[in-house]
Amino acid sequence: MNNSRSTTNKQILTFLNENDYANAAKFLLQIQINEWDKLDDGYKNLSSLKTKSFWFDSYKIKIQFNAERIYSTSAKVDVDSIKNRSCFLCEKNLPEEQKGIKLLEDYLLLCNPYPVFPEHFTIVTENHKPQEISSSFNDFIMLSKLLSDKYTVIYNGPQCGASAPDHLHFQAGTKYFMPIENDFHSIKNEFGDTVLNNEKLIITAADDGLRRVISLESNDEKILLKAFNNIYDNYSELNSNNGEPMMNFICNFDEEYGWRVIIFLRSKHRPSHYYLEGENRIMLSPAAIDLGGVCITPVEKDFDKIDKKIIKEMFDEVSLNKDIFVHMTTALKKIFSRKLL
Ligand SMILES: [Zn+2]
Repeated sequence: MNNSRSTTNKQILTFLNENDYANAAKFLLQIQINEWDKLDDGYKNLSSLKTKSFWFDSYKIKIQFNAERIYSTSAKVDVDSIKNRSCFLCEKNLPEEQKGIKLLEDYLLLCNPYPVFPEHFTIVTENHKPQEISSSFNDFIMLSKLLSDKYTVIYNGPQCGASAPDHLHFQAGTKYFMPIENDFHSIKNEFGDTVLNNEKLIITAADDGLRRVISLESNDEKILLKAFNNIYDNYSELNSNNGEPMMNFICNFDEEYGWRVIIFLRSKHRPSHYYLEGENRIMLSPAAIDLGGVCITPVEKDFDKIDKKIIKEMFDEVSLNKDIFVHMTTALKKIFSRKLL
C-alpha cells in the first residue's frame, strides 16, 4: 500500500490505537473539511439542501434535491464507458488533498466529496478489483461492526447503483439517517414473512408495496455468512443476466443484537422515468440510499414534481417482480428448513 494516503494525524492515530474507528472517521472528516476545499464545498452545499418527506402506511420516504449528485446519478456504467475512463477510486487518481484511514487488511476509508449523509464516507479496496459482494460480504459486515458506533455501511451492486463497478467499494454514513433504519420494525410487523427464526438467526422477507427485501439478523458472523451464501445462490439461479444478481445492501451492527442486514432485491438498474424525453424525464437512479428512504435527485424540477405516486411507480419498477419474490421466499423457506445454521 502507498502509505502516503493514510493520515498521520496524531489524534486519529490515538483513536485507531484504541480501536475507536468511528471517532477516527469523524475526526478525519473534520480535518479534511479544513484542508480540502472541494470537501468543504460539498458540506456547505449539504447544509442548504431542499428536502421533503412522504408518509406511507408504516414508513417514510424523504426526497433530497442535491445538484452536486448529478455525476453520480447519471454515471455511465456500461462496459465501454468504464474501460475508457481512469478509475476515480484507485489511490493514484485520488485528489492530492485526500487522506484516509486504513481498515481491516486492505481497505481505505475516505471522505466522500459529494455527501448525501450528514457524514459520508467511501470505503475502497487498495487494489483495483471488481465490485462484488459474494467475495466481500464478510468484509462488509466486519466494516459495519468497526464503524457501528456512529455509521451504517451500504453496498450497491455493480449493475444497480455502484458508480465504479470496476473497483470494490462500500459507503458509510450517519446511522439512522435513512428512514428504513427506524422503520424496519414496523415494516417487518406489517409486511414481514418469516423465512427462519431461531435463537441465532432471523430471516425475514418483506414486500412493503414499494420494495422487496430480505433481512438477516444475527450476532454470529459465521452463521450470517452461511445464510447470505444460501440466499445468494438461490437468487443467482433466478437471475437471467450475466454477473452479480442485482442487490443493494444496508448493514447495521449493535453490540447487544448484532448485525441487521437489509437486502433490496432488484429487477432493473433505472426506472423508465429516467429514460423519458424532455419534461417527463425524472433524474432519479435508485440505489441503497434511495431505497433506504432518502431519494436523491439532482434536478430541482424533478424534486418539485416527485410525489407518492411517482415514488411508488419507480420503486415498484426497479424492485424484484412481486411474483418472483413470493416464489423465492417459498424456496428460501424450504432451503432453510433443511439447513442447520
Ligand atoms: Zn480502481
